[in-house]
Amino acid sequence: MARLAVNGGTPVRKKDFPLWPIVTKSDEQAVLNALNSHRWGLGGQFIGQFEKKFAEFAQAKYALSVTNGTAALEVALRGVGVKAGDEVIITPYTFIATASSVLTVNAVPIFVDIDPDTYLIDPDRIEAAITPRTTAIIAVHIAGLPCDMDRIKRLARKHKLAVIEDACQAHGAEWKGRPVGAIGEAGCFSFQSSKNLSSGEGGVCVTDDREVWERMWSLKNCGRIPRGAFYEHHVLGWNVRMTEFQAALLLSQMKRLPAQMKKRDENGAYLTQLLNQIEGIKPQKWTKGTTRHAYHLYIFRYDKKAFGGVPRARFIEALTAEGIGASSGYVPLYKEEMFVVDPAVHVFAGKVNYAKVRCPVCEHACAEEAVWLYQRLLLGTKRDMEDIATAMVKVQKNVAELRT
Ligand SMILES: *Cc1c(COP(=O)(O)O)cnc(C)c1O
Repeated sequence: MARLAVNGGTPVRKKDFPLWPIVTKSDEQAVLNALNSHRWGLGGQFIGQFEKKFAEFAQAKYALSVTNGTAALEVALRGVGVKAGDEVIITPYTFIATASSVLTVNAVPIFVDIDPDTYLIDPDRIEAAITPRTTAIIAVHIAGLPCDMDRIKRLARKHKLAVIEDACQAHGAEWKGRPVGAIGEAGCFSFQSSKNLSSGEGGVCVTDDREVWERMWSLKNCGRIPRGAFYEHHVLGWNVRMTEFQAALLLSQMKRLPAQMKKRDENGAYLTQLLNQIEGIKPQKWTKGTTRHAYHLYIFRYDKKAFGGVPRARFIEALTAEGIGASSGYVPLYKEEMFVVDPAVHVFAGKVNYAKVRCPVCEHACAEEAVWLYQRLLLGTKRDMEDIATAMVKVQKNVAELRT
């Protein structure tokens, strides 16, 4: 008789984990307040309030709301001075927007491989990728784990580069006790549906630098300048303004964000303790200066040798059947069709042949090792964390059932 749920056995869990997004009466009222204010865009009160709150949250001097995380990256790139033809160093282990934003400001993404334990850009490999055309590094805090900001900033200072933090997965993450976002010259957050703080779509840029904030403000507002006239356009900008509905909803959600963060902290730590006891399962290792992981994703490394040689895809299938939904995550970005077939990429990236890029650590992680659990699982109970570990142990004990 089969024991594993994937073969018809009884699953470890039948109950789902907490659903995302969570909706409360306060959210409902917030959206209604925006509606009834008759000011849905410019001239409303919620955007200003939200920007102030978020700046406090990120311990940044300025926050600038935008339509989404991708727009935040585009605005930040040009805001810190990245120009057409510049090279920008990024990780291949991230969401497409980290690369596409560089291309859509006419700059060239240069991929640097990741660290095998943290899955973050490997600071040891950055310097070799710097050329006279390099003007910025995007530090992506993937899963919500901060990059080694000391080392990245030291390299940036030495080569006169700007540092942009892609904190789209890292709301509330902390590096040496300071929230991520404004540790570099500018930082970007996303409020897309899956993110730890969400308004369906939305984004924000943060910075401590008044001039960067002013440039970003212009880029977001059709090239206008703060205190300038309405029909007065100084730079080539976009309209990437957030609506009052989003800002009102975000203000409401931010009230419960600290409690949710605390829950993910506790469950994340407990889950790591449980998973560390399972052979062949290695939770993402923290960078040394990390004092808080945001846990947008809980990533662990799967070693098939400890699971009778069963490939990761089959392991994920079995785990999902036990009631623990998991994913294999990204492919190395430079392998996306876009880099191979879209001529627009080459208008911007010129002679870079992405088909020749090789980041072996990232390729190995993507092809057979990385497994993701989503943040909503960490909003469950301690018992829920035990179910996750129990399901993995069950799959391991009965792995013979998968090797047919
Ligand atoms: C979600 C995400 C983005 C883009 O945000 P959108 O709001 O979806 O445009 C950028 N970078 C990373 C790492 C992300 O996870």
